Amino acid sequence: MNINRTSNPRIVIVGGGFAGVSLAKQLSKQEVQVVLLDQHNYHNFQPLLYQVSTGGLEPDSIAYPIRKILKDYDNFQFRLAKVLEISPEQNSVITDIGTLKFDYLVIASGSETNYFGNKSIEAHSMAMKTIPQALDLRSLILENFEEALLTTDLDERNALMNFVIVGAGPTGVELAGALAEIKKGILPKDYPDLDTRLAQIHLVQSGNRILKEMSEKASEKAEAFLEDLGVNVWKNLRVSNYDGKIVTTNSDVVFETATMIWAAGVKGANIKGIAGEDLVSRSNRIIVNEFNQLKTYPNIFAIGDVAQIETEAHPYGYPMMAQPAIQQGKQLGYNLERLLANQPMQPFTYKDKGAMATVGRNKAVVDMPNFKFQGVFAWFVWMFVHLFFLIGFRNRMIVFVNWVYNYIRFDREARLIIRPFKKKLKSDS
Ligand SMILES: Cc1cc2nc3c(=O)[nH]c(=O)nc-3n(C[C@H](O)[C@H](O)[C@H](O)COP(=O)(O)OP(=O)(O)OC[C@H]3O[C@@H](n4cnc5c(N)ncnc54)[C@H](O)[C@@H]3O)c2cc1C
Repeated sequence: MNINRTSNPRIVIVGGGFAGVSLAKQLSKQEVQVVLLDQHNYHNFQPLLYQVSTGGLEPDSIAYPIRKILKDYDNFQFRLAKVLEISPEQNSVITDIGTLKFDYLVIASGSETNYFGNKSIEAHSMAMKTIPQALDLRSLILENFEEALLTTDLDERNALMNFVIVGAGPTGVELAGALAEIKKGILPKDYPDLDTRLAQIHLVQSGNRILKEMSEKASEKAEAFLEDLGVNVWKNLRVSNYDGKIVTTNSDVVFETATMIWAAGVKGANIKGIAGEDLVSRSNRIIVNEFNQLKTYPNIFAIGDVAQIETEAHPYGYPMMAQPAIQQGKQLGYNLERLLANQPMQPFTYKDKGAMATVGRNKAVVDMPNFKFQGVFAWFVWMFVHLFFLIGFRNRMIVFVNWVYNYIRFDREARLIIRPFKKKLKSDS
């Protein structure tokens, strides 16, 4: 890997997401050698992925080069590498570019889509965890309308214009709102020869309310906002299968659609080599103690989505959200400094700063620990918070300018099929 050993202890971080970057910043002034490994050379701001899928933002504006984040830190190395396996006994990670020894290892590999073992759903549905997936979805949505314009088969046309989103967490809700706005504001202008009023957006939730992690008021309001926008919200309905054409459910409701988006579950992106019931939970997250440390391997830590700290309030770990990841990264940086100075580590405590989701233009719901609000003000708060947490001044400027432009013009200019997506290619790969 072309990385020389220095006299400082080597800390290897796997993953340059919210947790990994937060840890790296905290380690920047310490006397350690840090090697950050990621399969992508950029940090991906996942909360805005749905805007890439729906042509509201260019992918570049939510990605940031990891090397640029680290450029001012001495003793830091970045390698573009996929970690294939961890060998805790050998204190090494095996990657697609070689093997690397560590003194301390921090696994910050995030999460991946959970299909709960359903291979057919996995093969035929669309996911939205990465920028390439968001671009695939953008292409598919636009390709569907191009095809709908050409077909004379009414059922096929309807299926091409139907969108089924499974899972009504923030991702599903935000995507449904954005698709509804496209249907209302953009499709009639782009496809005057197509009756785009027939396009249907279905949001399916197995439980009895949407945004179930948020307050009841937020759920009710978000549902009302979605219904205003013309989204069909289905509750207490569980999707059982999708074969690329028909979505079946646990009732007699079926949907004919060319596009099913699976936003119904995530699991930890654990890496081969960390295994066993006492180390890995049922949701594939790595079980760690309050110092983010693995039980059997005191020099290995996990933070962020992949880590599961079990507490009374959160028996299955903290929510897979940006704030727990950022806070754990920061705390572990502080703890590693203490560990290296032979001082006791401090347990991680999560400061819940709340949750929010936008449903569309002027519509959002915000739950702060002591204050809950919905509507236009919530929407401005949502925008401000997302701009604030985006990495890089240029990205913030571009996103801000895009949002102002889209707001004034009722537009989403990035509706481009740059890299055509064909479903058969996905199942072949
Ligand atoms: C569509 C979407 C919307 C979301 N919206 C919100 C929101 O509004 N608010 C909120 O708080 N949270 C939101 N989240 C969740 C939030 O993005 C995650 O909780 C957060 O990214 C977790 O940070 P992390 O550092 O643990 O993982 P990530 O940010 O996912 O980073 C993991 C990194 O590890 C790398 N990696 C993984 N495996 C390997 C490997 N084997 N080798 C090398 N590199 C590897 C990945 O490339 C990635 O860069 C959203 C997530 C998605 C997908």
